[in-house]
Amino acid sequence: MVTSAYLRAANQPPPLDGYNLFSQDRPLVEALRRGGAAAREDECAAFGRLCGGEPLELGRLANEHPPTLKAFDRFGERIDEVEFHPAWHDLLRIGAEHGLHAFPWADPEPGAHVARAARFITLSQTEAGVGCPLSMTYSVVPALRADPSLASEWEPGLAARVYEPGLRPPAEKAGLLAGMALTERQGGSDVRANETRAEPLADGAYALTGEKWFCSAPMCDVFLVLAYAPGGLTCFVMPRVLPDRARNGFHIRRLKDKLGNRSNASAEIELRDAWAARLGPEGRGVATIIDMVVHTRLDCVLGSTALMRRAVAEATHHAAHRAAFGRLLAEQPLHQNVLADLCLDSEAATATALRLARAVDDGDDVFRRLATTIAKYLVCKATPALVAEALECIGGNGYVEESVLPRLYRESPLNSLWEGAGNVNALDLLRAAAREPESAQALLAEIALAEGADTRLDTAADRLRTELVDEDELEYRARGVVELAALCLQGSLLVRHAPPAVADAFCATRLGGDGGRAYGTLPRGVDCTAIVERHRPQLDA
Ligand SMILES: Cc1cc2nc3c(=O)[nH]c(=O)nc-3n(C[C@H](O)[C@H](O)[C@H](O)COP(=O)(O)OP(=O)(O)OC[C@H]3O[C@@H](n4cnc5c(N)ncnc54)[C@H](O)[C@@H]3O)c2cc1C
Repeated sequence: MVTSAYLRAANQPPPLDGYNLFSQDRPLVEALRRGGAAAREDECAAFGRLCGGEPLELGRLANEHPPTLKAFDRFGERIDEVEFHPAWHDLLRIGAEHGLHAFPWADPEPGAHVARAARFITLSQTEAGVGCPLSMTYSVVPALRADPSLASEWEPGLAARVYEPGLRPPAEKAGLLAGMALTERQGGSDVRANETRAEPLADGAYALTGEKWFCSAPMCDVFLVLAYAPGGLTCFVMPRVLPDRARNGFHIRRLKDKLGNRSNASAEIELRDAWAARLGPEGRGVATIIDMVVHTRLDCVLGSTALMRRAVAEATHHAAHRAAFGRLLAEQPLHQNVLADLCLDSEAATATALRLARAVDDGDDVFRRLATTIAKYLVCKATPALVAEALECIGGNGYVEESVLPRLYRESPLNSLWEGAGNVNALDLLRAAAREPESAQALLAEIALAEGADTRLDTAADRLRTELVDEDELEYRARGVVELAALCLQGSLLVRHAPPAVADAFCATRLGGDGGRAYGTLPRGVDCTAIVERHRPQLDA
């Protein structure tokens, strides 16, 4: 703990940079070890050191200089390109060279997905926007494997640890990125409302025509697209540039002016006879693309975990260096209560995120299916409130752009919205539990691993079992059920793996009814100092 005397000079904390974003995150390091990736700890530490340096500044620059659309060249020819600040390319290069977009597919050693998850959480703290193309590229590979010939054509480029910006034929590039285009104006959650048509061509491929209302990272090399073929809604693989160097029929109408995620481009696009190969059978588009969505949902959890961690790091650091009314904020009981309460959600998110990544390593699809859905719901939904409170912890400075908290705050609602908004996620839990009861059993079995260790968790788990089989107004109650399920999963993980002070405070407040609606309502007897110190980054390490 820094002493009060040190601070009286200016009473402003030193900037929080130049520290190891991975090694200083103790819950993350511990989760990596128990996730079977201890052998990769040194690599993750080196990456954490790297990200704690210049990339923090690159993140700021990439946001302050958002991408612009260059629809035409100087001769009036359509080029449909997006121009980014060099900081965006630098961050994406760092991500690609460290394999965040695919290394577990190319190097499927035990713990590879866990290590990739830890790095994703680390890089996302510098800037969340680059996570979008990195995540979509990571997620497209399992979906492509539905068609071995398409997989063998695309996977080497997608899994290569190379970032090559610019539109060129895929065969001429050493590294490729992938995106997806599902959402249309008339329907995003309900993709059956899609109107994009796919006309079969003589060579077995298809020509896609229609509009897509959201298409992020439009400078990617290839996209998975949903469109109606004669046999129904179907998934397609659509390159941006054709082998003869002609641009495919992919036109950018405009870029969205977004709340946050400003370093990344999200476009409205028009497809005009765009050449595409079919992935999976006609009429099975949603079933085919779900293999991609389940992985992007994992990355939503990782991305929100990163936002929480950065916010908690900033708030705990500030409190250790800022005094008010004669004492450091970190020494004031009420402020300790607020900070420790924030740390609980950050730690629960970290434990959950890496447990989900371990399920990918284990090939445990039955557990992953439901657990990812419920974790996405709770972790992503909790993030804006946590970031807002962390912002307040920093006082007026927290409301100022330079503090990074405004950027985190603007980003924070996004992961809950895309890849299935809150209600859609909640309804997914019910669907999955009904259609694949073994996935609900796997979730309950994981929760039960902590049985007997905490009565509040046991009682909540009993309630969950009852709620899941009670069909009365189940759709109406879905959010309540998914929240309870996610809290039970987090409680079970913390009881088994976190320090007792963390697990006990979590169970008391999140499961035992001993917490309030705002942060800072932990009950008496919680060792707040220990919890906060566990989460506070040390500048000299
Ligand atoms: C920054 C950004 C980038 C994006 N990038 C992409 C991209 O790259 N590719 C892509 O395909 N899409 C992208 N999207 C689109 C995103 O996935 C959709 O916006 C999202 O799926 C929601 O669809 P919608 O906007 O049509 O809302 P709607 O589907 O109209 O949903 C509106 C609300 O209704 C609720 N709702 C829907 N159905 C039900 C129901 N049955 N019961 C109860 N409530 C319900 C939802 O939870 C939501 O709160 C992006 C969105 C954003 C904001």
